[in-house]
Amino acid sequence: MAISVFNLFSIGIGPSSSHTVGPMRAARQFMMNAAKANLLATASHIKVDLYGSLALTGKGHATDLAILLGLEGETPEGVDPNAVKERVQQIRSTKILRLLGKHNVPFHENEDLIFHSDKQLPYHPNGMRFTIFDASGKELRSEVFYSVGGGFIVDHETARQDKHLVENAHQLPYPFKAGDELLEIGRKHRMTIPEIMMANEKTWRPEEEVRAGLLNIWNVMQVCTERGCQHEGILPGGLKVKRRAPGLLRSLQKQQKQNKSHPLEAMEWVSLWALAVNEENAAGGRVVTAPTNGAAGIIPAVMHYYARMTENPSDEGIVTFMLTAGAVGILYKEGASISAAEMGCMGEVGVACSMAAAGLTAALGGTNEQIENAAEIGMEHNLGLTCDPIMGLVQIPCIERNTMGAIKAINAMLLALQGDGTHRVSLDQVIATMRQTGQDMKSIYKETSQGGLAVNVPEC
Ligand code: SF4
Repeated sequence: MAISVFNLFSIGIGPSSSHTVGPMRAARQFMMNAAKANLLATASHIKVDLYGSLALTGKGHATDLAILLGLEGETPEGVDPNAVKERVQQIRSTKILRLLGKHNVPFHENEDLIFHSDKQLPYHPNGMRFTIFDASGKELRSEVFYSVGGGFIVDHETARQDKHLVENAHQLPYPFKAGDELLEIGRKHRMTIPEIMMANEKTWRPEEEVRAGLLNIWNVMQVCTERGCQHEGILPGGLKVKRRAPGLLRSLQKQQKQNKSHPLEAMEWVSLWALAVNEENAAGGRVVTAPTNGAAGIIPAVMHYYARMTENPSDEGIVTFMLTAGAVGILYKEGASISAAEMGCMGEVGVACSMAAAGLTAALGGTNEQIENAAEIGMEHNLGLTCDPIMGLVQIPCIERNTMGAIKAINAMLLALQGDGTHRVSLDQVIATMRQTGQDMKSIYKETSQGGLAVNVPEC
């Protein structure tokens, strides 16, 4: 399976890649398949069943909204975050869904969108089934999809074969599935990791388009950070979490004006950028999935650090950062998973930290071995990290945890650049450990909100 950097960094909507972005894509895909089979005109009823983690934390993660919009043909990339609330209110008040924006069917949410919190489909904790019926009640089509993390979806057959990626025949000049393979390609062809990635990316689009596309994603990240720094108030969902980024920005600006800067001020700025993005995400705003939404603040925060706090940052450095982070993301996708329902928060914050550490090390001129070392450090110290969001909302511990992931990534870069790339634990070994740890972890710690902080902290 060939994965592009643009699969790992996609423009979408908060609050969750697996519970919002993936379900929206699956709902739309189901409707597109039904339309292709000429079933749209005869459809008079639709039913959606959600299972496992999607059912347990789907309400807090806006899965219901995502499904409705996906059935209407919206995409995570194209939907206007500011219009979501109004459109969903309309669907709920009229009890009419406009399938793919063309064909109206009645929709009674309580009966037609069912959260099966005590059941799970066989191949992944994030399962969903879509079924359409004709006017006589006869089933016209039924399909199962799984949302396997980072907004990726697979159909039932792909999941049955224990694959997290739909096979494609795309050929790459430098395919790799493991860190050792990546390093070997670099040695053999005398190429850096970002050069290897660029050579692969050029099989999809010309180099200039790759660069422009990555810089556009960086631009969306910056706009998201700016919005997060401006938007005050309380986050939605009922947990009454106050948005902190605007206040922190004011405090940091005041500190600077009064010449009260201190040695750890950079950490405060990095935390601000991570908070800003994740508060936007929690509010359902426009974010870049990187490589998930729950951990969407880590990579932008570390990129801001690169762009504002290192010597001679450049667009070339940004492209290098993203290509390298993408290479590391591919290793996790191939060797483990980026789904919190399978790996706990290791699969989100751990992976983003590892990717950011690698990207920053590359942008600062690190060797392939130092990059691999930084990525390994970034994950090694996130092993065992559980996913236990209070009330199923991507807020606590998620938002603050992104600040920790970003700082840890910078420290991983510092440690790696102080060495020569030789180290005891390889990135492949840490990815294998992550996979095994995720498999051993109880499901109460894997995006179900049935353990950890979710049960030990009173909801209000
Ligand atoms: S705890 Fe981590 S994995 Fe779980 S929802 Fe929050 S950010 Fe995502």
